[in-house]
Amino acid sequence: MNPFTFTQAKDLDSVLAALSAGEARPIAGGTNLLDLMKEGVMRPQQLVDINGLDLDRVESNDDGGLLLGALARNADTAYNPLVREHFPLLSSAILAGASPQLRNMASNGGNLMQRTRCVYFYDIGTACNKREPGTGCPAKDGVNRQHAILGTSDSCIATHPSDMCVALRALDATVHVQSSSGKREIPFADFHRLPEDRPEIDNTLQPSELITHISVPQADRFMAHSAYIKVRDRLSYAFALVSVAAALDLDGGTIKAARIALGGVAHKPWRVEAAEDLLVGQSAGDIAYAAAADAILQGARGYGQNDFKLTLAKNAIIQALSTAARGTNAASGGDRHPEGDRA
Ligand code: SF4
Repeated sequence: MNPFTFTQAKDLDSVLAALSAGEARPIAGGTNLLDLMKEGVMRPQQLVDINGLDLDRVESNDDGGLLLGALARNADTAYNPLVREHFPLLSSAILAGASPQLRNMASNGGNLMQRTRCVYFYDIGTACNKREPGTGCPAKDGVNRQHAILGTSDSCIATHPSDMCVALRALDATVHVQSSSGKREIPFADFHRLPEDRPEIDNTLQPSELITHISVPQADRFMAHSAYIKVRDRLSYAFALVSVAAALDLDGGTIKAARIALGGVAHKPWRVEAAEDLLVGQSAGDIAYAAAADAILQGARGYGQNDFKLTLAKNAIIQALSTAARGTNAASGGDRHPEGDRA
C-alpha cells in the first residue's frame, strides 16, 4: 500500500475545502476503498475520515418521501421502521447485498461509490481500461461470467455491483451533493454512467463534491407489491449475476403502474421506462411480464461466459414481477439474519 495521510474531519466545510484542493478522498465505512488501496488499484494521497459529520440520519421528507444521510449505515437503513414499512423494496435490496458485517459498516454514500468487481480491475498485473485507460479490456474475450450484457462499449463491459442502487433507481431517487461552490441534485438515472470510451469514470460526481443525502419520493402506491430478486452463485455474500427490483401498483388484476430495474447486467442500474409503460392497463401475468422483459433486454448481447444472462435476465424479470404481484411479503430479501444484522 502506498503511503498516505489520514485526517479526521471536524465539519463539512473542512471536508469540502480538502476535496476542492484536489488530492483528498473521503472515507466512511471503507469497505471497498480499503480493498482497492491494499491491491494498489487506487492510491489516494490523502484520506479524510468523514464519519464525524452529521449525515447519519434516516428520516421522512415533508412530502412523505425518504431522506437518507450519506453516512447512515446500510444495515441501519434497511432495518429502519420507516424504510421497512414504506420502502420495502429498498430494505430488501440492501439486505440482499454483501454480508451482515459489511452492511453494518458500509455507508449509503459509499454504496453508490463502490467500484466494479471485475477481476481484471483488481489485478494490477493485467491490462484494464478502467484502471489504466488505454491498456485494453481483457474481459471481452476472457473471464466475463459476471459481466454486462447491456450498455457495454469496446472499452469496458464491467457491471456496477450494488443491490441498493438497483432499488434506488426503480424508486426514482435523487443524489444530493455539495462542494465549496454550492449544492447540486443529481437524478439517480444520471448519477452512474455507461462506460463509453471513458470507463475510468464511474459516475457524474465531481472530485470536489461530496454526497450528503439520497432522497426517495413517496412510493406508497408500490408498498403492497414489490420484490427484489437476486440470482447469484452462492446464497449469500455474492454479487448478482442478475438482480431485479420490481414494483407494481395494481387495481385488482390490472396494472396501473410498474417499476423495473436490473442489476448485474450493466455499468449502471438498468431501467427502461418504455417497458414499464407497456405494462400499464395490462392484466398482471406472464404474457405481459414477458413482453416487458423483451423490451428491457432489447439490444442485449453476451460475451461468451455470460451468454446465459440473456435467458436468466428475462426469467428473473418475470419471476420478480410475479412475486411482486403476489404481495410484498412473498418477496425474499436475501442474506438476512432473522434477528437483524446486529444479532
Ligand atoms: Fe477493465 Fe472494464 Fe475490461 Fe473489466 S470490463 S477489464 S473493468 S475495462
